[in-house]
Amino acid sequence: MTDIPSVPYSAVFRCIAGCQGAYPLDSLIYCCPSCHGLLEVSHDVGALQRLSGEEWIELFDSRYPARAGTVDASGVWSKREWVYPGLDSRDIIHFSEGNTPLVELPHRVSGLGRGWIKQCGHTQTGSFKDLGMTVLVSAVKRLRRRRPSLKAVACASTGDTSAALAAYCARAGIPALILLPEGKTSMAQLLQPLASGAVVCALRTDFDGCMKIVQKLTEDGHIYLANSLNSLRLEGQKTLAIEICQQLGWRAPDWVVIPGGNLGNVSALGYGFSLLHRLGLIRKRPRIACAQAQQANPLYRAYKAGRADVGSIVARNTLATAIQIGNPVSAPRAVQVLREFHGVVEQASEQELADAAALADSEGMLCCPQTAVALACSRKLVHVGVIGSEDETVVISTANGLKFMDYKRDYHRNDLEGLQCRHANPHHVLEPNLKSVLAFVEQLGRCGLDTNV
Ligand SMILES: *Cc1c(COP(=O)(O)O)cnc(C)c1O
Repeated sequence: MTDIPSVPYSAVFRCIAGCQGAYPLDSLIYCCPSCHGLLEVSHDVGALQRLSGEEWIELFDSRYPARAGTVDASGVWSKREWVYPGLDSRDIIHFSEGNTPLVELPHRVSGLGRGWIKQCGHTQTGSFKDLGMTVLVSAVKRLRRRRPSLKAVACASTGDTSAALAAYCARAGIPALILLPEGKTSMAQLLQPLASGAVVCALRTDFDGCMKIVQKLTEDGHIYLANSLNSLRLEGQKTLAIEICQQLGWRAPDWVVIPGGNLGNVSALGYGFSLLHRLGLIRKRPRIACAQAQQANPLYRAYKAGRADVGSIVARNTLATAIQIGNPVSAPRAVQVLREFHGVVEQASEQELADAAALADSEGMLCCPQTAVALACSRKLVHVGVIGSEDETVVISTANGLKFMDYKRDYHRNDLEGLQCRHANPHHVLEPNLKSVLAFVEQLGRCGLDTNV
C-alpha cells in the first residue's frame, strides 16, 4: 500500500473566466468579485503530479473496499486529496456515499451496443446530490467553528438537493432552510426534508423563481448557500468520474450520457475526467452527452443555434421535474466543459422519456424520469450514428426510481394526460378466495401468461 503522501496539497476558488484572484475554500464567496461570474475549485496540480498515475491508482485501490465507518468507505472521501485537501477528518460529515454500482445495460433498454448504467441513486437520500452535499456540509461544519454568526444553510431545489441537504445537516446538527417550487416535486421528495427536520417552504413559483430568492437570502453571510452555484458541491460530484474509471479498471468509456438541469453535473464530470487525464490515471477522455427534457431545454436550444450564451427560458412542465429548469446557473461552466470534451446535447419528449422509463422498469431496472431522459437520448444518439454501435457508453442514473412513484402510479393506471402508456401494467383486484385467484390464473394461462409489455 502507498503511504498517504505527506505533500501538502491545496486548492482555492478561482474565477472560471480567468479574472485575477484566489480565495480560500473557507471564505464566504460564491461568485467572482470582479465579474460576478462562476468560481471553480482550482487544485495545485503540480503538487498532485508528484505522485504518478500508477501511484494514485494504487492509493485509491488500497482504499476500496474500506472498513465500515472510516472515511475511506465514502466514494468521495476516499479521493479526498482531489476534493478538499486539508479538511480535518473531524469535520467530515458522511454517510459512506458513492461507490454505487455500475451495471450492464441490456441493449433493449438503451439501444447501446456496449452500455453501462451508473446507479447513483443507490445512496443515502437516493440521488447523486449526496456526492456534493457531503463536501458542502463538511465545509460548513468547519466554517461554523470560525464563524458562529453562520446560522443555517439554505437551498432552492427541484427535490433532490433539498433531500440531501436536509439529511447531511441533520447528521451535522446544522439548521437547513429549503425553498421548493410548490407542487413541482414528488411526494417522496417533499417528505424527505420534512422527515429530516429541515424547515421547508413551498413557493408558488418554479425552480428558477426559488433560485433567485435563495441567492438574495444568502447574500449577507448569515445563511450559507448550498446550491451548485457553490462550486464545493461539484468537487464531490466529480468523484463520479473517478469511480466510473476505477470500476472499468482505470480507463474511461467512449461516452458518458447525463441528464442536465442546472448543469452542475456536466461540469463536475468534466472536472473529474480532466484531472484523471492530467494526472495520468487514464489515457483518453470520454465524450460527454448532456440529455435535456424537451420541455426544459435551454442548453439544447443554444447548442442547436451554435450559441455559447445559453440564456434563459421559462421551463414547461415535464415528468422529469428534477431537471425542470429554464435558467441553469452553471451554464457557462457546462459550455466550457462540453467544448473541451467534444460534447453534444440531445433532448427527449415526454412520450420518449415515458417509453424509455417503462422499458427500463420492465427489465427490473426501475428508473427515474431524469434517467429516462438520458436513456431516450442515448437511443436517439445511436440512431443518428453520433454514438457508434461499438462505442462503450456509461449512462448516469441520477436518482432512484422509488422517489418518483407518483407518475408511475398514473402511468400504470393509464392516466397521464396526452401520453400513451403503452406498457401500463395495472394490478388486478380479486375476491379474497382461492377459487377466484385460480380462475384468474387459469385465464392468464389461456393467454400464455402474457404481460402487457
Ligand atoms: C439535480 C438532478 C439532475 C440535474 O443535475 P444538474 O447538476 O442540476 O444539471 C438530474 N437528475 C436528478 C435526479 C437530479 O436530482
